[in-house]
Amino acid sequence: MGALASTSRDVAEKILETPLVSSVREDKVVWEEERNGCYSVKSGYKLAMCYLIGSDKYHVMGNWNGIWKAQAPHKARHLLWRLCRGCLPTRSRLLKRQVECTLNCHVCDEEIEDELHIFFRCAVARDSWSAAGLSSVLHNAMYQQTNVMDRIFAICSNESSDTVGRVAILLWCIWKNRNDKLWNDNVQMSRQIGRHAFDAWNDWTTEADLVRWEKPDLDWVKCNVNVAFVSGTGRTSMGLCFRDNSGHFMAGMTQWQQTVISSVEGEAWTLLLAMEEARHRGLNRVQFESDSKVLIEAIHMKRRGNSEFLSIVHDILSLMSSFINFEVKFVRRQKNLVAHTLARAANSWASFHSMKNSVVVVLLCVGRNIISVARIDVVLATGWLRGAQLCNIYTAACFSLAAK
Ligand SMILES: [Zn+2]
Repeated sequence: MGALASTSRDVAEKILETPLVSSVREDKVVWEEERNGCYSVKSGYKLAMCYLIGSDKYHVMGNWNGIWKAQAPHKARHLLWRLCRGCLPTRSRLLKRQVECTLNCHVCDEEIEDELHIFFRCAVARDSWSAAGLSSVLHNAMYQQTNVMDRIFAICSNESSDTVGRVAILLWCIWKNRNDKLWNDNVQMSRQIGRHAFDAWNDWTTEADLVRWEKPDLDWVKCNVNVAFVSGTGRTSMGLCFRDNSGHFMAGMTQWQQTVISSVEGEAWTLLLAMEEARHRGLNRVQFESDSKVLIEAIHMKRRGNSEFLSIVHDILSLMSSFINFEVKFVRRQKNLVAHTLARAANSWASFHSMKNSVVVVLLCVGRNIISVARIDVVLATGWLRGAQLCNIYTAACFSLAAK
């Protein structure tokens, strides 16, 4: 009985924590799998397949997220995925499927061509590793599994997403070289393959780095918003910041709620919060930027529907109808870095935090990845930065968040 009472109290607390949307007046049945809240066969099928794959023989255990988080072009990550799913058309696999072909490696002609040989045992592949600057990773004793899938998952679990990305590009170049030889009779030296992989990764990251935040037009203010879900905390946290035409920080805000809502609902909620904050501050020419394509499209298309998400969109649209100089725009994640960082940092502050005073936030990066964020006073008081520097941190970017 006691347990039951505490369970129902838990439920009651959960209900009270649910954020309310002012335009929703009555309870209704909502199909969660669709953004408009209405049932469709497509989403029903997807849900059923999810249960099937989650429960039976189709599910392959492994660090799949590690593959998709790799910092590399999609084609290279897709190659890793094909390798782990065992669906790359190597000669040994083709023969198993009754395709007539010779069995030997087309590049060295010394051993049977299977995945392990092409990427890890073939002399040409092995010689390309050092030119790509990856021999210490690929020769590591931890990654000598006889199964290619186990090798890749081990690399994904132990190396940074940048290193996994570089490995992915190198494997892609090795596969491309094999096909080039097979179909076009083009032969590359192993050093060229490795060098090409090295350059391709550098070009790709530089290109990704060129995408940066842009200043708003004269007399306009730009507001970036973002939401974050910190795993294990059960919290949804939001971050937003206002910057002027010279790029100076005007104000920032973070907030977290002890509730987990869907990411689109979180994005919509944060944007609504930002618009209310802009109204409160008397700003009327504001360009709001979010990296949620779904949200921005829903606003531009003035979508209507049953779901919580579209109810928040409805509130945003009605606010925008009284503020005709509120604009919303989609931006890529890289252009939304400050809001993204603030949302992730929200957890280290009180549930509502407004940066009125001068606060300096330190971003600690390994490569292009922000691994942590903290207030400078906290960092200095704990000596945490020195400890962190020892862990191979080579970029510490500071920005001054001074209120005007
Ligand atoms: Zn070979």
